[in-house]
Amino acid sequence: MSSERKPTFAIIGAGMSGLLAALKLREAGDEFTVFEKADRVGGTWRENTYPGIACDVPSHLYSYSFELNPDWNFMSSPGQEIQEYFEGVSKRYDLDRSIRFNEPVVRCDWQGDRWEVEGGSGFVESFDWVIAATGILHHPKRADIEGLGDFAGDVFHSAEWDHSVALDGKRIGVIGNGSSGVQITGSLAPRASHFTLFQRTAQWVVPVEQIEYNEEQRAEFRKNPEALRAIHDELDTSFHQGFANQVLDGDSDIFEGLRNLCNDHLDNHVADPELREKLRPDYTPACKRLVVSHNFYDSIQVPQAELVTETIERVEAGGVRTADGRLHELDVLVCATGFHVDAFVRPMSIRGQAGVMLDDVWKDRPSAYMSVGIPGFPNFFMINGPNSPVGNFSLIRTAEMQFGYLMKLIGHVEGGGYTHATPSAVAASKFEEERVEAAKHTVWATGCKSWYLDDRGIPFLWPFPFARFTEEMEKPRFEDYVIG
Ligand code: NAP
Repeated sequence: MSSERKPTFAIIGAGMSGLLAALKLREAGDEFTVFEKADRVGGTWRENTYPGIACDVPSHLYSYSFELNPDWNFMSSPGQEIQEYFEGVSKRYDLDRSIRFNEPVVRCDWQGDRWEVEGGSGFVESFDWVIAATGILHHPKRADIEGLGDFAGDVFHSAEWDHSVALDGKRIGVIGNGSSGVQITGSLAPRASHFTLFQRTAQWVVPVEQIEYNEEQRAEFRKNPEALRAIHDELDTSFHQGFANQVLDGDSDIFEGLRNLCNDHLDNHVADPELREKLRPDYTPACKRLVVSHNFYDSIQVPQAELVTETIERVEAGGVRTADGRLHELDVLVCATGFHVDAFVRPMSIRGQAGVMLDDVWKDRPSAYMSVGIPGFPNFFMINGPNSPVGNFSLIRTAEMQFGYLMKLIGHVEGGGYTHATPSAVAASKFEEERVEAAKHTVWATGCKSWYLDDRGIPFLWPFPFARFTEEMEKPRFEDYVIG
């Protein structure tokens, strides 16, 4: 690019990661456009509005490190409060004027020097750099269950909640007991006339008390930002030095402690021995993503609640038929059945160097060098892309570090008078080889089935310690890039 022209950025997505990129570029005085498919910012917190939705990462950690929020009302924030936080940040940085709402990106074409980006409205513009902040859990996976379309009542996915449907006093069924299904159970079982949770695999449930901050505490945080910072930093250290690293050794003794903690929680809270055993998993805790809840066991024990572990055979007009021949009659059926986690930036059409399509490069499975870049796709980078540490580090911290990495890389390229950079194929495959080998030894590969596993059964997450992630993000290995 000519030295008089400032580089321009396309940011795809106005969720947590996209807003972060936008506000940092705004601070730096750079030119950018955010493409957002919906009419509001917020990403996952805009999309997921199911009853009981909350973040199980403590609020004072689930905040940008430079935008700590003294006004959180709860230790585990309800989704609506988090959505308001992101809307507030967007307003404070005056980001809305740079966001094209209702503009899903449909196509990105590398033109040899810049990216041509096309939105769903037909809007086309060229940019020097593309930052894809499209999230991970954004394509709802509807259960592949026979007869779902025959259900005569209301049926929807947990991430596509139909708020026009009345719930109080209804017969409600929920398929799935991951974090979403457990939070929905906590909220809806007490409100239903009959509540059925269809559980295929038991989940370890970590007990964490919900703490409400009172006005006095919030006023103290407002008055004393250092106290707020201290809480954030303490949480950050314990999270990233503790749990984040421990899951990397599947043979570690710490899982015994975790097993005891969860077993005690189960034993002390569930009275009926038969129900208790149905709720007890047989795999290592943290193999699947740990479920955190303060009210799940209470809710599944209200008189109108029932845990069904029989295999679902099909859905019929009147409800769900299980393999024992029983029809579970329902008015409302919720599929809390998770997400297609291998889409990342897809279904966008992305054409890189020499006309290579990303769909072809990723035909077996998605991968990325250092979780951010793809060989052959210069100046196209992802935040929370493939191999990101989604299973053990805070997603916000990860996004901040990845964006810092990208700014260093871009600064290096432009500072050297160059225009583009792409990870070299050799560096990318060396990284992937090492990553796969390490991933095989993590707790995620100790025999359970989860959304962390790729089509080969290998965890697709960052399998190295937090310290390595910090180091890699702080000092990009420029020699691993083809820069021109
Ligand atoms: P999930 O963890 O993928 O859980 C999906 C559930 O649906 C599982 O219980 C699964 O059973 C069940 N299921 C899927 N297909 C089924 C079928 N055909 N028949 C019966 N059961 C079926 O999805 P999620 O609960 O939406 O959570 C996804 C991720 O979102 C979480 O792991 C977490 O990272 C994030 N999340 C976070 C929070 C938070 O508070 N921070 C809250 C919600 C979600 P199996 O276990 O047998 O596969």
